[in-house]
Amino acid sequence: MPHKKGRVFSGARPTGRQHLGNYLGAIKNYVALQDEYECVYCIVDLHALTTVDTTENLRQNTYEMALDWLAAGIRAEDSIIFVQSHVPQVAELHLFLSMVTPLGKLTDLPTFKEKARQQPHNVNYGLVGYPVLMAADILLYKADTVPVGIDQEPHIEFAREVVRSFNFRYKTNVLVEPQMKATEFPKVLGIDGQQKMSKSLNNHIELAATEAETTQRVMQMVTDPQRQRRSDPGNPEVCNVFSLHKVFSSPDEVAMVNIECRRAGIGCVQCKQLFARNLNAHLAPFRQRRAEIGRDPQQVWDVLDQGRQRAAAIAEQTIAEVKAAIALP
Ligand code: SF4
Repeated sequence: MPHKKGRVFSGARPTGRQHLGNYLGAIKNYVALQDEYECVYCIVDLHALTTVDTTENLRQNTYEMALDWLAAGIRAEDSIIFVQSHVPQVAELHLFLSMVTPLGKLTDLPTFKEKARQQPHNVNYGLVGYPVLMAADILLYKADTVPVGIDQEPHIEFAREVVRSFNFRYKTNVLVEPQMKATEFPKVLGIDGQQKMSKSLNNHIELAATEAETTQRVMQMVTDPQRQRRSDPGNPEVCNVFSLHKVFSSPDEVAMVNIECRRAGIGCVQCKQLFARNLNAHLAPFRQRRAEIGRDPQQVWDVLDQGRQRAAAIAEQTIAEVKAAIALP
């Protein structure tokens, strides 16, 4: 492997087929990071257990997500792509780290409070320990770099504190403090133009949808609410279609929409048709690759298994060092 800047770890819950929000918010960044870093990308199925009511879709969701990652350009030959529960040492490290974690620190974290509010019927032990498991993910693979959005910063700071507590308690330097790589995770609004794109809100556009389905979803997008009639001038600054034009359309097209929308020179239907065309053109290579890989689903499971082997090799080493530091008999 050519010399890389360091090792990145990032995890995402198995949410099945990915959508445009996942792509712009995470996957695109995952693909780009591979050129500079050794990347460890983990499908965190254990984390998912803290909030899911049923696990029947877990396997299929894991497969679909891995397939989308590969089709989008995450390279199995460079990056380690694997499923969290396939390397059980993470649970072991989680336990060791829990011994140096004050409970009050966990219950004070804003993310815990938020989750407890969202599911008052299920404030489980795993939910409280979520940041400890997250720290274990990063520390097990000795990742020195973690790409984070602003809302995740307290978790990484927490992981750094855990490292200091552990290393101090056991007079060791076996665990490495990860650095945050401040990353912009753009918030992508759903087709309702109001809320963050999300499967559960059914306001998403799936990457793997057909061209016709994609166009249909785009045509449903909410635009500038003040623009009631075709003859009304619009304001692209408040329109989600325009935000996405900026990502998927050419600079000339963006400039044209910006001018013509304001003087009602272009209607929303025409504007959306243009966006749908550009989006479909952008996603065409992804869809082709997805279809190719998807013809043999075993390929995806093989990639995850190779990832497991590479991840396990690092994990076994770390656990051996951790146990030696604790002086377990
Ligand atoms: S013309 Fe385009 S940018 Fe303007 S409001 Fe309609 S969809 Fe939005």
